[in-house]
Amino acid sequence: MLSQLRRIVQDVAQEPTLASALSGLVSNVKAALKTECCSVYLADYQQQHFMLMATDGLNPDAIGNVSIGFSEGLIGWVGQREEPINLAQAHLHPRFKVTPEVSEDCFSAFLGCPIIHHRKVLGVLTIQQSASRVFNEDEESFLVTLGVQLASVLVNAEMRQVAAAGSQQQIQKSQLTGLIGSSGIAFGEGFVLQPASDFDAISLQKSDDPEKELSRFYRAVKVTKAEFNRLAERMSGHLPTDALAIFDVYHQLLDAASLGSEIEAQIAEGWCAKSALKRVVERFARQFDDMDDPYLRERGTDIRDLGQRVLNHLLETEQRQYKLPEQVVLVAENVTASMLAEIPRAQLVAIVSLKGSVNSHAAIMARALGIPAVMGVDDLPLMQWHGQRLIVDGYQGNILVSPADAICNEYQLLMNKDAELSARYQSELHLPAQSACQAPFSLMVNSGLAIELETTQSEFTNGVGLYRTEFPFIMRSRFPTEQEQVELYHKILQGYPGKPVVMRTLDVGGDKPLPYFPISEENPFLGWRGIRLTLDHPEIFLVQIRAMLKANIGYNNLHILLPMISDLSEVDESLRLIRQAWFEVDDEFNGEGIVAKPKVGVMIEVPSIMYQLPELARKVDFCSVGTNDLTQYLLAVDRNNPRVGNLYDAMHPAVLRALNQLGQQAHGLQFPISICGELAGEPMGVLILAAMGFNSFSMNHSNLAKIKWLLRRVELSELQLLLPEILACQSPKQVRLQVQRFLDQKQLLNQLRA
Ligand code: PEP
Ligand code: MG
Repeated sequence: MLSQLRRIVQDVAQEPTLASALSGLVSNVKAALKTECCSVYLADYQQQHFMLMATDGLNPDAIGNVSIGFSEGLIGWVGQREEPINLAQAHLHPRFKVTPEVSEDCFSAFLGCPIIHHRKVLGVLTIQQSASRVFNEDEESFLVTLGVQLASVLVNAEMRQVAAAGSQQQIQKSQLTGLIGSSGIAFGEGFVLQPASDFDAISLQKSDDPEKELSRFYRAVKVTKAEFNRLAERMSGHLPTDALAIFDVYHQLLDAASLGSEIEAQIAEGWCAKSALKRVVERFARQFDDMDDPYLRERGTDIRDLGQRVLNHLLETEQRQYKLPEQVVLVAENVTASMLAEIPRAQLVAIVSLKGSVNSHAAIMARALGIPAVMGVDDLPLMQWHGQRLIVDGYQGNILVSPADAICNEYQLLMNKDAELSARYQSELHLPAQSACQAPFSLMVNSGLAIELETTQSEFTNGVGLYRTEFPFIMRSRFPTEQEQVELYHKILQGYPGKPVVMRTLDVGGDKPLPYFPISEENPFLGWRGIRLTLDHPEIFLVQIRAMLKANIGYNNLHILLPMISDLSEVDESLRLIRQAWFEVDDEFNGEGIVAKPKVGVMIEVPSIMYQLPELARKVDFCSVGTNDLTQYLLAVDRNNPRVGNLYDAMHPAVLRALNQLGQQAHGLQFPISICGELAGEPMGVLILAAMGFNSFSMNHSNLAKIKWLLRRVELSELQLLLPEILACQSPKQVRLQVQRFLDQKQLLNQLRA
């Protein structure tokens, strides 16, 4: 049964159009269940009816012509009840509706099963038979299982159709829906990018210039060997000698007598260097994977790691050649920081990420850049987006494919309104950050993920509340050197003279992998991420801290922030390493006293540490709440998984109550606390946080003007009155309604669209 089901679903997935997919489906189901009729009806929510889309057994002329209202007949009943209905004598049932056009008089038995995707009924699948009998359990479970499996396939088939029709200019209005990643509206052309530094993305290609390919390969090998020498040297004080031997093995593998000669042979056969490398690395790695001995099996990973490094260097020498449209809507399976860097800022108008969710880092990057983003759009074959004319509606989470002129005009009006509002906010950017009752706020910016340094507004902010250092690491094909890091950090510290710049130590892992340090984990957000990784690699941590300390010389505005702390021992260990780095750097500068000891803080983003605040307050100088991760870990919802995207909500009453307690406790301990998660940059979020007594917020620079404008229009006393009502709410929806009502009373609601 399982194989029959799998085959039927695969057949549906492979059909080019929805009509052919459904027509094959009904015939296959009819044959598999040896019944006399199978039909499928699809829901049309605009018309509020189910349309007969395919049948093998009913009158074929009825296809596309017969519809049954959502509250009519047995089909409507299956949809309403959202469960199968199995009847021996369907025509005697009170809900039976006579529909002469379908010619079903000869059938008595009826089994209807809903097709549901993300709680939404997409359609109804039915089988019918002339004998008056109830379909047996096997038949019923077959149809139920098929319905479940079909749901996502049908959604994709429908989307494929939308995109295909768009590309052929056959339809004027098509819409795809995802999750809101960043608000705003943009017009542009779909431009698909695929990750380059990954073997899966390398398509095999031949070359007619083997000499050139060979010399490219030799060059990449040379750089890779030099990289290993550097790594071995850097780690020599930290790793035992036998562990360091791996670098010798890598060297030998790259030598002509080993993998090297195999790759040369492939190039001689006509493959380009990348393809030759891929073919050899994958073949060898597979051979090791299949070995019984666990030690040898592990060597498959080494071969892949080695191959990846050579590939990175091969790609470095290969300039990617694109012809970019004027207005790029960047579409990728997973939008990464390095992809964003490939598109000139002036041309990048929006982001569509097939994977990811509201607070994935790709969405945060889009917000930092102030462009709309739609996330988690079901996996439509990627290339179908390329070259499409698109409107990205980041308010609704919609993408319109080849929109009609009338729709474009409507959207243009909305964009004009947005521009008007944002000019209004900008006009007050130079004014003090304070409430209407003149209570001061510290408004800082989150920096680092956007490509440019956001120092343009530095005079209107209180500093940098969160500098995410991962970006320069992600952008390279190797770890940046200490000197490279010094130069980078120097720029940002210099950009905010006299104001605090909170630099977070490397927080990779989760949805921010390093291309040259692949980590494969079942649950990356619960795994080797942030401080966990860097404490296991003190050579990375120490170099970064040393670079920060050196960059700070002469500025003295550096604060260091530790991400993903879940245990006090991690704080102790980090502080020990920071002290060590300080002594080293101070020594390098002959103890002249010019190397300052920066303040150190901890991110509150893992729930465990919320319960150790008194101890934490004794160890470090400040804390900063990462509401993005705190929400994910409190609610047990992966912030990167669109399937549970609707459950991820920082306005969840549990999250808000936790934040309120945190604020009160920090206040009692006189422990400086600020908020640097995305909630602080949302109008409703910042009002709730201000109501709780928080007064230090860090946000994407694109939100700064709006948040300042808003805070300047509210009194703390009125926010404090609102707080008990918010804390009593039972759902995020109720919370939003309360704040909306407040904003409405103050006539602010309609001024806050953007
Ligand atoms: C957070 O978790 O809220 C945060 C600011 O860090 P990041 O989004 O980079 O994980
Ligand atoms: Mg975080």
